[in-house]
Amino acid sequence: MSKTMSRRAFLKGSLSAAGVAAGSLPLAKAAQAAAADAVEPLVTVIDISKCVGCEECVYACRESNAEKFPEPEKPFPRMYPDRVPVQDWSDRREVTDRLTPYNWLFIQHASAEVDGEEMELTIPRRCMHCNNPPCVKLCPWGAAKQEANGLSRIDSDICLGGSKCKAVCPWDVPQRQTGVGLYLDILPSLAGNGVMYKCDRCYQKLEKGEQPACIEACPEEVQTIGPRSEMVELAKKRAKEMNGYLYGLAENGGTNTIYISPVPFDRLTFETGKGKPHMKPVKDKMAQGSNLARAMVIAPIAGAAAAFGKYYKRIKEDRS
Ligand code: SF4
Ligand code: SF4
Ligand code: SF4
Repeated sequence: MSKTMSRRAFLKGSLSAAGVAAGSLPLAKAAQAAAADAVEPLVTVIDISKCVGCEECVYACRESNAEKFPEPEKPFPRMYPDRVPVQDWSDRREVTDRLTPYNWLFIQHASAEVDGEEMELTIPRRCMHCNNPPCVKLCPWGAAKQEANGLSRIDSDICLGGSKCKAVCPWDVPQRQTGVGLYLDILPSLAGNGVMYKCDRCYQKLEKGEQPACIEACPEEVQTIGPRSEMVELAKKRAKEMNGYLYGLAENGGTNTIYISPVPFDRLTFETGKGKPHMKPVKDKMAQGSNLARAMVIAPIAGAAAAFGKYYKRIKEDRS
C-alpha cells in the first residue's frame, strides 16, 4: 500500500457495499448503511513533476496483465469486404513506446521552454477512465462497460474488434489485435476483426483491495489513487503548491485521471504519432446531442448483444 494514502481511504472507494448485511437490518438502517458505504469513483492523481521515466510502471503493468494479452490464431481469416484492417502486434510484443494490445501504459516524452531553459518531462499515459466514457456508451456490441468505481474495461470475450470505442475515444486509446475473439466463431469474414485492448485499471487487483500494478511499482510515488472527492482536493492542493496545472478534471466532461504539471499543458511539446495520445483540451463528447441520441438507441441493442456474447461463450466452454 502506498504511503501517500491510508488503506482505509483506498478501500472506501474501491470496494462495493456488498458486505452490508442488509437482510439483518431494519430497512431504513440498511438504506442508511448502503448510502454511507456507496461506492465513490476512484481517481488517480499523476504528478508528472515527480516522474523520472524509469518505466518500472510499464513493466509492472505488462507483468500483472500478461494473462489478459491476446494469443491470436494464424493465418487470419480474410475479411469481405476488406473494410476493417488487420492489426497484428503479436510479433511486436516488446514495443513499449506507445499503446498496443500488449502495452497498455507507456511513458510519453514532452518538453517545454521555461525561463529560457529546456525542461524535459516524462508522462505515464494510458486510458483516462472518463466519468462518462464514450467508449462504453457508444459500443454497439455492449462489450465495453463501466464499473461502479469508475473504471471502464472491454470484455475480450464479447468484443468483435470493430473499433467504435477507439473512434469515439478523444485520445484514441483502445488498440486492436486481429485473430482473436468471438468474431472468429460467428462472423469471421464480415464483422469486427479482432478484440480491442486497453488499461482496465487492474480490476482484478482492485477487487482484492490491492492497488494497480503501475502504482505499486513506482519508486517515485508519482501516482496516488483514492476516492474522487479526496483526490480532487489533493490534486488542487498540489497544483497550488507548485503553481501547477491540471489536466483531466474537466476534459471530456471529467475523467478519473488527473495529471498535475509544473508547466501549462498547452506549452508542452509532445512526441506524437499512432498510439501516443495528445493532451489538448477536449469537450464533453457525450454532451453532444448526436452522441446522446445514439447512446439511447444503442443501449438496449448493446445489452442484448452482450447477453448473446456471454451465452455463446458459456455454450462453447460447456462443449470443450
Ligand atoms: S480515455 Fe478513451 S478508452 Fe478510456 S474511458 Fe475515456 S473514452 Fe474510454
Ligand atoms: S492500472 Fe493496471 S492496467 Fe492500467 S496502466 Fe496501470 S498497471 Fe496497467
Ligand atoms: S515508475 Fe514512476 S517514475 Fe518510473 S516511469 Fe513510471 S511513473 Fe515515472
